[in-house]
Amino acid sequence: MSKKIFRAIRGLTVAAVLITLAVLAVAAHAHLTEEQFERLRDEAQLAAQGVSMNGEAYLRRLHVEGIRVTWLSGNAEILFDSAPEEAADPLPDCEEIREALRDGRGESIRRPGPFAAARLNTALRLEDGSVLRLSLAQPTILSLLLRFALPLAALVIVLLVASRQAASRLSKRVVDPLNTLNLDDPAGSASVAYEELQPLMHRLEDQHRQIERDREELEKTSLIRQEFTANASHELKTPLHVISGYAELLETGMAPPADAAQFAAKIRQESQRMTKLVDDIIDLSRLDGGGVGMMREACDLYNICRSAVESLQQTADEAQIPLRLSGESAPMQGYPQVLYSVVYNLVINAIKYSPAGHPVDIAVRDKPDSAVLTVSDRGIGIPAEDLDRIFERFYRVDKSRSKEVGGTGLGLSIVKHAARLHRAEIHVESELQKGSVFSISFPKQPSA
Ligand code: ADP
Repeated sequence: MSKKIFRAIRGLTVAAVLITLAVLAVAAHAHLTEEQFERLRDEAQLAAQGVSMNGEAYLRRLHVEGIRVTWLSGNAEILFDSAPEEAADPLPDCEEIREALRDGRGESIRRPGPFAAARLNTALRLEDGSVLRLSLAQPTILSLLLRFALPLAALVIVLLVASRQAASRLSKRVVDPLNTLNLDDPAGSASVAYEELQPLMHRLEDQHRQIERDREELEKTSLIRQEFTANASHELKTPLHVISGYAELLETGMAPPADAAQFAAKIRQESQRMTKLVDDIIDLSRLDGGGVGMMREACDLYNICRSAVESLQQTADEAQIPLRLSGESAPMQGYPQVLYSVVYNLVINAIKYSPAGHPVDIAVRDKPDSAVLTVSDRGIGIPAEDLDRIFERFYRVDKSRSKEVGGTGLGLSIVKHAARLHRAEIHVESELQKGSVFSISFPKQPSA
């Protein structure tokens, strides 16, 4: 970077010097031309007086450094020429002579060839009608520059050396603060470096914070996964132990034949528990993936509730729990399979944790922006201090009771993830021995 700054400054200096020289040379040339014309006019005036008084004799005596003097008669015949050896001009065609014959005075600048120096000419008409023309070679811009070559070269060298020093100092001054920027504390170091860098540094700061948040989130997720794997293995092992214990008793003939049917029933019950657990784990991992592979589609929350209630009717009848579905059709955009498992898990919990005879109400309301599901029971209720934790994986208020009623500890966790997938809000109210109310408000257009 400092090399680039250095090169840019050096380039700029060289360009500035060259442009200044060119402008100076053109200006000096114009000034010199004006001065030379002045001199020609004065000399012409003097010579005109001399010729009027002494005629050609005056001109023969006259010798003016670098000036060619030509005297012409009124019909452009040469009466005198101080430098006849030089190329003769096509005199009658000369602009200054024509002007002098016409107006009394004429001037012109003429270049004899493309590379020859231009000539400045001035002509005066005398009283007798003759014309006196004075001509002077004008130096070219190059010759002017060459005349000052030595001081100019010295000036250019001094400027280049000075610019080199300035460039190296400036590039150091620009680059040093950048090298000392502390990227671990971008906002802090931005204030000591450049004001212009502050927006960039603030963006970096934001990114730092975001990365830190992502890292913490990742750590948390990985911890939750580890815990989940440990819990899941433990939950799967328990029924397996029971199954293998009863199977061993049956295999070795240690079980009294009368109990064989009861043992087989136990094995079936534990296998069902395992199947339910594996199903729940699969559901959860699918929801963890944010619903990848599932299709969001138009569905009706009321119809979903009706089919969940139908499939739980037998379980409810066995537990002597009346299921009451009420409400209205509530169309929405969502994942029907996931919504079904939400209703299923809430209703089965209400059945599991309610004493026989206490009804469970499932209500659906169609609001302008949302479809609201409410599942209320008059069961055992949830202690206030557990309300925040019941949605955690494998969290149970009463572990033995949950197992007794066939719980896996994953139902509400599935409900929470499913609600999150639909950007829905969950609200729980519960009172011990009075019952619980779970209410979920699904936005009709979750993407909005
Ligand atoms: P489980 O399979 O044990 O029911 P859940 O995740 O569905 O697991 O529920 C977590 C815990 O929340 C349950 O073990 C239970 O203690 C409590 N719970 C859930 N729903 C109800 C309810 N309707 N009434 C009382 N307690 C409930």
